Amino acid sequence: NRSKAPSTQKITEGLLAGNKTQLSRALTRIESTAEKHQQQGRKIIEACLPHANKSIRIGVTGVPGVGKSTFIESFGKLLTSKKNKVAVLTVDPSSTLSKGSILGDKTRMEELVKDPNAFIRPSASGDSLGGVAQKTREAIILCEAAGYNIIIIETVGVGQSETAVHSMTDFFLLLKLAGAGDELQGIKRGIMEMADAIVINKADGENLKAAKMAKNEFNRALHLYPPKESGWTPKTLTCSALENQGIDAVWELIETYISETKDNEYFQHKRTEQNKFWLLQTIENTLKRDFYNNPKVKKALEVQLKLIKANKTSPFEAATYLLELNE
Ligand code: GDP
Repeated sequence: NRSKAPSTQKITEGLLAGNKTQLSRALTRIESTAEKHQQQGRKIIEACLPHANKSIRIGVTGVPGVGKSTFIESFGKLLTSKKNKVAVLTVDPSSTLSKGSILGDKTRMEELVKDPNAFIRPSASGDSLGGVAQKTREAIILCEAAGYNIIIIETVGVGQSETAVHSMTDFFLLLKLAGAGDELQGIKRGIMEMADAIVINKADGENLKAAKMAKNEFNRALHLYPPKESGWTPKTLTCSALENQGIDAVWELIETYISETKDNEYFQHKRTEQNKFWLLQTIENTLKRDFYNNPKVKKALEVQLKLIKANKTSPFEAATYLLELNE
């Protein structure tokens, strides 16, 4: 029954009043592939923009099993106990496959889910990481407009998704485990450079000693990196997400970072750079989507792919032909 679908205005009003049901509805609109829903989504985003941009955006990454959801649960509860409203979003590149997601399959953050001041939303799915990331970017705006002042964006430590999350957050936190021996082996250099803090989780029980040693090793290594534009030297901490130890120190560190980078104006500078980046990304995504959705292109692409297979055209010739079809 079409008349029962809530109007864009009703969704927007509810969202701005902090209503979770309407916020979820709005997110479903922006995640939808239906043109009509996307149009509604764009209207809602437009109405939300003046109310957005006021939160602290924190990226959390780490390999599967490192304790991301356990950490976010403890951390989120600490934040809501301090009268914050916390939204948790995820960027899960595996959600682009029909196989289902790495992050979404288990029951996660059971306590935080029940918290009236927390909002948890699994990753949008899409046919590319770029598409998923863009939807998450838009989801940040909606959550901020709904009154969430801390946005946590979780991603798995595999593939390119960290870069995407780094480019939409103010602070980037890498969760690690202490291993035996050389801690720095097997860590991707790019991630070390993105991290504003490395937090060694599962610093409890028999692991405690190894965690402390790993912390020292990371701290030494982090000093070898060139200074960051932010003027911030990344720090290493240990915590036990399970036993709720050391979580408050992580928050204190983030607060220090925010206050220092606001003072030296890096905070706003970074957001402006991120907005420029996302402008270009959105253009790229839109052009690509329109191109591949063009029925003429769809049909001709199949033909050209066959011609390539039969060695009857070159990739460049085929591309030029297809691009001209779309004009
Ligand atoms: P994720 O895949 O990164 O989200 O990891 P989970 O949060 O699901 O945690 C993976 C496993 O590690 C679970 O069995 C957790 O109970 C356990 N775990 C998480 N944090 C800690 C911790 O601080 N200490 C210990 N001992 N176990 C933990």
